[in-house]
Amino acid sequence: MSTYHAPLKEMEFVLNELAGLAQVGKLPGFEEATPDTVAAILEEAAKFATNVLDPLNGPGDREGSTRLADGSVKTPAGFKDAYRQFIENGWNGLTKNPDLGGQGLPQLVATPVEEMWHSANMAFDLCPLLTQGAIEALELCGTPEQKALYLPRMVEGTWTGTMNLTEPQAGSDLAAVRTRAMPQGDGTYKLYGQKIFITYGEHDYTDNIIHLVLARTPTAPEGVKGISLFLVPKFLVNADGSIGARNDVHCVSLEHKLGIHASPTAVLAYGDNGGATGYLIGQENRGLEYMFIMMNQARFSVGMEGVGLSERAYQRAVAFARERVQGKAVGLDKAQAAGPIIEHPDIRRMLMTMRAYTEATRAVAYVTAAAIDNAHRHPDLDARKRHQAFVDLMIPIVKGWSTEIAQEVTYLGVQVHGGMGFIEETGAAQHYRDARIITIYEGTTGIQANDLVGRKTARDAGATARAVAADIDKLAAHLASHADSALRAYGLRLAAATAALQSAIDWIVANYAGNVRAAHAAAVPYLKLWGTVAGGWQLGRAALIATERLAANGGDGAFLRAKIATAIFYAECLLPQAEGIAQAITEGSNTVLALAAEQF
Ligand SMILES: Cc1cc2nc3c(=O)[nH]c(=O)nc-3n(C[C@H](O)[C@H](O)[C@H](O)COP(=O)(O)OP(=O)(O)OC[C@H]3O[C@@H](n4cnc5c(N)ncnc54)[C@H](O)[C@@H]3O)c2cc1C
Repeated sequence: MSTYHAPLKEMEFVLNELAGLAQVGKLPGFEEATPDTVAAILEEAAKFATNVLDPLNGPGDREGSTRLADGSVKTPAGFKDAYRQFIENGWNGLTKNPDLGGQGLPQLVATPVEEMWHSANMAFDLCPLLTQGAIEALELCGTPEQKALYLPRMVEGTWTGTMNLTEPQAGSDLAAVRTRAMPQGDGTYKLYGQKIFITYGEHDYTDNIIHLVLARTPTAPEGVKGISLFLVPKFLVNADGSIGARNDVHCVSLEHKLGIHASPTAVLAYGDNGGATGYLIGQENRGLEYMFIMMNQARFSVGMEGVGLSERAYQRAVAFARERVQGKAVGLDKAQAAGPIIEHPDIRRMLMTMRAYTEATRAVAYVTAAAIDNAHRHPDLDARKRHQAFVDLMIPIVKGWSTEIAQEVTYLGVQVHGGMGFIEETGAAQHYRDARIITIYEGTTGIQANDLVGRKTARDAGATARAVAADIDKLAAHLASHADSALRAYGLRLAAATAALQSAIDWIVANYAGNVRAAHAAAVPYLKLWGTVAGGWQLGRAALIATERLAANGGDGAFLRAKIATAIFYAECLLPQAEGIAQAITEGSNTVLALAAEQF
């Protein structure tokens, strides 16, 4: 059996060397994020992930959450107690405003912590993840009274939050939302309608749940411009903060799912008994706009689910490959008798692929987290704008690419296990099943890619995309002229991949206006191309730093050499895909649309 161990050395390398924790710690308000404090936080989080969350992951998957006859929901054994410990230890408010009881830490520090929760037990962490989103929406757009009444309890975690967007006819297209909100003349509204797929829409962790709900008022215009955001508590809250009457929102069923069984996914009925009392957040008809403001955070977090699941699947595969004895390894002198499968070259190929992709997605995500902090807190306005433009470009890549990569990594995790991978008791199958949702919720890969092609590339005529590609090219040139021959080879490969990316950016910009359907046919490949090259960029930086450290005899030699080998594997075996993807974009996107709908 494999136990989760947080990869602290690797996390600290990425935080310090690639993402620039020291610089982020100097931003106004982040002075507490000193290297010692951050190391202590990561160590404590690692203990909680390993000792409390990881042991519940398999049993929680097997037991699942259950809806009881009275409409309440029972989460699997141990989850409620784990949640109590989670909030008592202050993990819920890591990045939140200290005035509300949070710890005010940078996103960059919360990111490895979040990765650990996802690795150890993603179904558990979905509850705090959704609460974070609800806190952010309320903090940005709520009235002072709403903030005072709800936020301290939500930051503490004694009340959780949900996001209620989806309805049977309104998934990717939220313009189709039909839930009605009727003004009552006293500033409150009554809500009527049904929301589906609501994560932790009902549970037994806390005595109240604060639902944020998209709905339409009677005078709202059609489409996206007529959607408002409402706060609907499960129990009404009295002015003194005490719990009042039960509100008219009820869990009518739980979905039976492929994965994340411990996480209750609820169908919620609003207003079956006279109307659910709701309070408008911000202004009427601006609900979708508010959702978009906070979407960056939620999408980033789902990207981190990809990194966390990849890491866990990798660790489990390595543990199995060391133990499973099968056949003599080809070409090894010592292979007189059957040995562990980790000696087979094809198992090595799979483990290297899993490892390299996990390190690449992690590095891209942590670097983006540092940019989020800089975009919020950098003292210089131009620097804030530059970081925000980078964040805006990278969010669909972190979300879309890390989650797609997690499919491949968890797939390989099953493959390394052979037949036992298909059998539930090894746990590899659970990661594969759990991973399947992450390319779907919080906007499918197709929706992320549309965003990347349209808003993030074509809208500014490729300016931000080209600027980032130019930075990657600079690194490639630097590596290509380095004294170290392995880095020189890396630089040439990165330069070729970047040239491919640049050709794709040019093609998207040239085709978006006149050939928009082909540009959207290219959207997902374009997103994968970006991820592939960004991964090569960050691992190239890692290889450079590790090489220079080794030359100066600094740091842990074994760790640094493994870092370099993993980066070179990425450059040689995974990065060359970039040229093929770019070719498919520039030459094949029209053919995607060659058949008429009736020809399928
Ligand atoms: C387990 C689970 C938990 C969830 N949790 C929540 C939650 O807490 N709150 C909440 O509100 N929702 C939640 N959801 C809903 C989730 O966000 C939606 O399922 C998701 O946004 C996709 O919508 P859909 O299922 O209606 O698929 P559709 O929108 O019907 O999509 C079907 C296919 O069409 C593609 N497609 C649709 N439109 C476009 C387009 N414009 N361009 C290209 N391709 C397109 C999609 O990419 C997809 O491949 C959850 C869903 C699940 C399964």
